[in-house]
Amino acid sequence: MSETIVYSAKKIITMNPSRPEATHVAVRDGRILGAGSLSELQTWGDVRLDERFADKVLMPGFVEGHAHVMEGSLWSKVYCGWFDRADPDGKLWSGVKTVDAVVARLQAAEAALEDPAAAVSGWQLDPIYMDNTTLTRADLDRVSTTRAVGVLHASGHIMNVNTKALELAGMLKTGHNHPGIPLGADGLPTGELKGPEVMTPVGPFVGFERNLLDADEAGLRNFAKLCVRTGTTTITDLASRMDEDTVEMMLRVTNEPQYPIRLMPFRFFLGLSAPELVETVVAMKKISTDRLRLGQIKIVVDGSIQGFSARLRWPGYHNGAPNGLWYIAPEHLSELLHLALAAGVQVHTHTNGDQATQLVLEKLAPALQAHPNPDHRFTLQHCQLADAAQFRLAAKLGMCVNLFANHHYYWGDEHYNLTVGPDRATRMNACRTALDSGVPMAIHSDAPVTPLGPLFTAWAAVNRITASGRVQGDEERIGVSEALYAITMGAAYTLHLDGEIGSIETGKKADFAVLEADPTACDPMKLKDIPVWGTVQGGRIFPAAEL
Ligand SMILES: [Zn+2]
Repeated sequence: MSETIVYSAKKIITMNPSRPEATHVAVRDGRILGAGSLSELQTWGDVRLDERFADKVLMPGFVEGHAHVMEGSLWSKVYCGWFDRADPDGKLWSGVKTVDAVVARLQAAEAALEDPAAAVSGWQLDPIYMDNTTLTRADLDRVSTTRAVGVLHASGHIMNVNTKALELAGMLKTGHNHPGIPLGADGLPTGELKGPEVMTPVGPFVGFERNLLDADEAGLRNFAKLCVRTGTTTITDLASRMDEDTVEMMLRVTNEPQYPIRLMPFRFFLGLSAPELVETVVAMKKISTDRLRLGQIKIVVDGSIQGFSARLRWPGYHNGAPNGLWYIAPEHLSELLHLALAAGVQVHTHTNGDQATQLVLEKLAPALQAHPNPDHRFTLQHCQLADAAQFRLAAKLGMCVNLFANHHYYWGDEHYNLTVGPDRATRMNACRTALDSGVPMAIHSDAPVTPLGPLFTAWAAVNRITASGRVQGDEERIGVSEALYAITMGAAYTLHLDGEIGSIETGKKADFAVLEADPTACDPMKLKDIPVWGTVQGGRIFPAAEL
């Protein structure tokens, strides 16, 4: 029989309601044999006591229900974000606050390049914080006139490039007539490229050689480091193209003995017809492993609120901006929901605006009548502007929500002042209303849009502080224990994994977040500052300090 190890801890927060706290947990074959006292666990026979966590607090490994592993690949490029941010190696990059600072950081990277043909690529630019200014190709020409230079925005939907990049892509000419290619007074493109259709042809020249959704092999390893540093043991990749090579690579990397996370990629809905997509995903499900869970679909219904491309119901945008974009035709959405329900494939839908959320609710109801499924757990992702009636309807239809709690901190002030105005900004990501409506709820980072960090996300949902330090929407705050549930069991539920992970109890995977302090005993304002020692995943131990 294999060895049984009993770990002692200062405290174990189990998320198992019948036994919420313990001092010891027994692990055998990568699974939890039980949690309790040492003497209780010794009744299992020969056990080895391991006291390395004696001064730590153990929680179930955190589950991030909405992230994109491509962040791991982005870190090989130049960080141009507004906020300070830690990279996979734990190095903190300071935020850049002006166009000149962005240019200076890119110039420094350019100076370090040896290959004269290499491009300079940056990521995470967010001009909304810089008085909504535009980074022009003239700005980027200050970085180089002989190399291609490109910077991807935080939203992932816009890119700015220099003159050389446009030239290489054959786009430095007059006569463009495309809403995604703004033109200067000279009739030439300004260097701003909006939307995948116009970004993709330039991407390979500015260092974004793969499509903008998938991580490469190095990126997949890099992203796993961010997970260990934040206590995350199961993560989604919520819009992956998943061509054959990518799936093969994901299988190989996640199968390595020291790969520290369980990855659940959702196949992006574009690129295949609805029947082909469902068929492909059903086939992929069959090659799933413990650490790579295949077989789900992600649909994107609208854009982003801060980019004014989300679909809002009346009265629309507070600043009068025209309504946003539909990313999928209603008939296509309907067809996908019907086929997925018929095939037993789970679908998560991105809806930022309340009109987009309404469309999904209205299309799912008849699809469910045609293909009843009492446990489909189709999930509204972001669902930022939903009102109480929509949460009630989501609950009635058996849906889950995964709310974008981090958004409140990063863009809450912009939503209040600019995008949706004070009233609706106050009810954005309404965790309290969601829970009171009985809809199963998770909360998320959408990394790389905001940094991965489930304890930060819990802090955001508990405190609802904006970047300027205001509490926005006091009534929608939730308690610490509710937030901790959302980042463990809550997220596991939206993934149909609540029987395997999310709590520390008999039979579940031995997945732990190893913390230096007790999140239930600290000032709720300090939740985000609790140091993470590392993780245990499937019984394997991963100290962040040794990554
Ligand atoms: Zn996303």
